[in-house]
Amino acid sequence: MLDKLVAQYSAIIESLGEDVNREGLRDTPKRAAKAMQFLCRGYNQSLEEVTNGAIFESDTDEMVLVKDIELYSLCEHHLLPFIGRCHIAYIPNGKVLGLSKFARIVDMFARRMQIQENLTRQIAEAVLKVTNAHGVGVIIEARHMCMMMRGVEKQNSVMSSSVMLGSMRNNPSTRSEFLTLVHSRRAL
Ligand SMILES: [Zn+2]
Repeated sequence: MLDKLVAQYSAIIESLGEDVNREGLRDTPKRAAKAMQFLCRGYNQSLEEVTNGAIFESDTDEMVLVKDIELYSLCEHHLLPFIGRCHIAYIPNGKVLGLSKFARIVDMFARRMQIQENLTRQIAEAVLKVTNAHGVGVIIEARHMCMMMRGVEKQNSVMSSSVMLGSMRNNPSTRSEFLTLVHSRRAL
């Protein structure tokens, strides 16, 4: 699979008018192929594998918020990066998930070809699935290179998307608690 990708990157570079044999580009097809495999490694992961049994019994029913998870993804329309932050909140229902696992769930879905709206929903549904929470909310704020570097060349626009499930969707005070916590600046 890597060999095929390397050959295809050579062809792309040549098609763009470059000399793939010049010194600076000689190893580029291989490096680019490996980089792209890394950026798409989420296709080879599963929810079971990334959460790895880190589900713990707990009787808390207060909102748990994991804020400012770094996010790097590729837009499926242009294969250009979009980067930003993801905020996840959930209302536990007898079980809590280990903190680092939220970042791993985000990564599993972000390291694929994506659109931000689908990515947001996939993360929310995965958190609901593993925790069986009363409610889950996910917000992603991201900058898209396909808007910044090409097309409209808007450098400062941030796209925001959210998905609310269960009590996070149905209970206005829970939802507004989440939004307030996400938008409060950190005190640390
Ligand atoms: Zn795009």
